[in-house]
Amino acid sequence: MTLSAPDPGLVDKLVVANRILYGRGVVDGFGHVSARHDKSPGHFLLARNLAPGLVRRDDIMVFDLDAVALDGAGRRVYLERFIHGEIYRARPDVQAIVHSHSPSVIPFGVTRYPLRPVFHASGFLGEGAALFEIREVAADTDMLISTGALGAALARTLGSRSAVLMRGHGSTIVGVSLEQVVYRAIYAEVNAKLQIQAISLGEVTYLNEQEAAYAASANDTQLARNWELWQREIGPVE
Ligand SMILES: [Zn+2]
Repeated sequence: MTLSAPDPGLVDKLVVANRILYGRGVVDGFGHVSARHDKSPGHFLLARNLAPGLVRRDDIMVFDLDAVALDGAGRRVYLERFIHGEIYRARPDVQAIVHSHSPSVIPFGVTRYPLRPVFHASGFLGEGAALFEIREVAADTDMLISTGALGAALARTLGSRSAVLMRGHGSTIVGVSLEQVVYRAIYAEVNAKLQIQAISLGEVTYLNEQEAAYAASANDTQLARNWELWQREIGPVE
């Protein structure tokens, strides 16, 4: 059985997601975003090894859940593609994933200080972020998720949550669509910055679990508004 080509609209949206995340400072030369294949849940779409701000349609490749490229053709692939394959395997509900080293989130991974929602826009953090300690599953490493075993361990730590912090490295955020995961990745960074500012002022009142859940549901009905704006900012994609 041959795999049908992904919806061109999804490929375009993935290119846009790459550019938006770069424009908003979530990714730089590093980091990546993927989407589950719309015709085969056992495959996903991810760019070749390239800075996200430079990704074009032709750079999008198809991978199976072992993170093997179907259409490699000698192109270099991301070292950390296993993050995507193993999370899609473990979480059938997940349709899109962002892995980044977005800077304001890093302090929470290295201090075990919990990342919590300080305002309505980050209600998706209501369950808190999981914390992945790579030393619990491997000897000293380069910190990268460069094998299937490490990817599976990360997916186990993520569990049913929307975000996992990776100590001394970055974070991975999941969603039910590219629009939702891009929103979450941007607002995880914003929330982290605001939370550090709030902590420096004094005692912080966070959204409680119910407020966070209500806010997250409300925000999910408004995703198109931000997406439209962010897409306009990056201009047309090739
Ligand atoms: Zn990384």
